[in-house]
Amino acid sequence: MPPHDDLARLLRESRRAVAFTGAGISTESGIPDFRSPGGVWSRMQPILFDDFLNDEDMRREAWRRAFSGVAGWTGASPNEGHFAVARLVADGKIAAVITQNVDNLHQDSGIPPTKVLELHGNASYATCLECGLRHELEALRQGFTERDEIPACQACGGVVKVATVSFGQPMPKDVLRRAEEETLACDLFIVLGSSLVVYPAAGLPIVAKRNGARLAIVNRDPTELDRFADIVIHDDIGPLMSRIAPRR
Ligand SMILES: [Zn+2]
Repeated sequence: MPPHDDLARLLRESRRAVAFTGAGISTESGIPDFRSPGGVWSRMQPILFDDFLNDEDMRREAWRRAFSGVAGWTGASPNEGHFAVARLVADGKIAAVITQNVDNLHQDSGIPPTKVLELHGNASYATCLECGLRHELEALRQGFTERDEIPACQACGGVVKVATVSFGQPMPKDVLRRAEEETLACDLFIVLGSSLVVYPAAGLPIVAKRNGARLAIVNRDPTELDRFADIVIHDDIGPLMSRIAPRR
């Protein structure tokens, strides 16, 4: 049986699925996996959260990177994989998408933002670390590039930071809680393009499996959790998922 038939069957038999996505779903949009050769952390040192908070030069460097787009996280378009997942969400098959990606491409593909649980935040806007107010990057750009102003909150004057979760910065508790709830509520947990090595990626599929859900892993390379999965497909995501949830 071709592998996509197996996954299609699991989806047919599922009443409530969850998709867990990682860098692999976005490489087909031209966004390099940040851990891979050519990815952002092979080209520059990450800025630690504490350094961002405590060192004005580091904060300036973080904003320089954000506005130059040097990390390559923004400006891409969703690909067939994102659109197929969006169709499954629209059909009520997939209840939530838990993602390690910060590229906003699930929302750009049409999934309601409330159904996208971003474990590592989002690189397409900024938030105030004091009051949480959202700031659009474009509104902050001119002050920084023309007057060298490090962005401050328009409401409270607090420190504003791109809404990604930096190294050394805690993951948002509410997102983690919802990701765990969705994992426990699903009967099918589908991994799409994650190597499942970092927490909580390494844990959630096991939580789902122990709770009685089926586990499908689609990733180009083998993962540590393949042996726990009901089906494992080592393939590109876009072509596979478009066959499972074809364009109408
Ligand atoms: Zn504020």
